[in-house]
Amino acid sequence: MNLFEHDTVATFPAGCLDGSSTVLAVVGIDVPAGRHGVIVAGTPFHPLDHRWPDQPADTGIIELLGHRLPVLDCVVGAAPRGTADVLVGSAIPARRGDDAWCWLVVHVVELDPSLATWAVGASVRLTVDGKRRWDLSGAHTACHLSGFAINAALAGYWRKPVAADALGTPDFERQALVASSLSELRYHDTYRIGRSLRKAGFDTDGLPSVVPSLGVTLEKRMCDWTATAAPVRVTAAGPGLGSIRTWTCDLPSGTVRVPCGGTHLTDLAGLAGVRVEVSLSAAGDVLDVVGTVELHPVGASARADARVSR
Ligand SMILES: [Zn+2]
Repeated sequence: MNLFEHDTVATFPAGCLDGSSTVLAVVGIDVPAGRHGVIVAGTPFHPLDHRWPDQPADTGIIELLGHRLPVLDCVVGAAPRGTADVLVGSAIPARRGDDAWCWLVVHVVELDPSLATWAVGASVRLTVDGKRRWDLSGAHTACHLSGFAINAALAGYWRKPVAADALGTPDFERQALVASSLSELRYHDTYRIGRSLRKAGFDTDGLPSVVPSLGVTLEKRMCDWTATAAPVRVTAAGPGLGSIRTWTCDLPSGTVRVPCGGTHLTDLAGLAGVRVEVSLSAAGDVLDVVGTVELHPVGASARADARVSR
């Protein structure tokens, strides 16, 4: 049994979709019988985050001991450094990045128990479903733009000074966002319109009048940004899964950076279009923003890059 001393090396921030590695452990986890969690030294798979589960896990294939095993799910695991005591998901008591813990990518597969014994130390080939990754990345990149766009659209509704976003606009998103979920080509942000937002100085009474046109306003702003084809990248403070990662986008008005654990397009040219629907609950206390994303085919923007570089 290996004792964990290091985080899993995560290559998804750089956009990797495949790689080779060695199995460090196979753990039984709280999933239907027959399923195991495979932990390797390094992986391109993006796991579901246990604290802010906005982007679903990658799926794909692990080739192990001559078997092609579908990766059915992928979750964050953690073990106190120097132990083999792996916890997954909501059972993890530590905050991500806590240095006393090793942060691990756990690939959930169906594995014959007899094979599990032999797997530790074996070489593996890991391949992520690239189409699903691209569609999740597109939704995630659009979701970030949507946050900046709603901040800009509602900037005039603040009666007091409030913390600004990375573009210098009053940060409605930071004050009001309570949930964010992503799926392939779709994002859904939920904002709480309540007493604390009013106390922070937001004109909640003025909001209902702007909601009917807000979707079109967001679409227009996001379309202006995607037309710039600004480069997007995810930078990491270190190679391990627990390292802090930052989404960076070089918009004409300046480079914007926000903390982000997910995956993204390589530039805004990958976004072919976004349709945004905004609704306010009858009680006026919940604002939902749902974006549906259209993408250029995988590799289209890479080809565009190649043309530019010639
Ligand atoms: Zn993000």
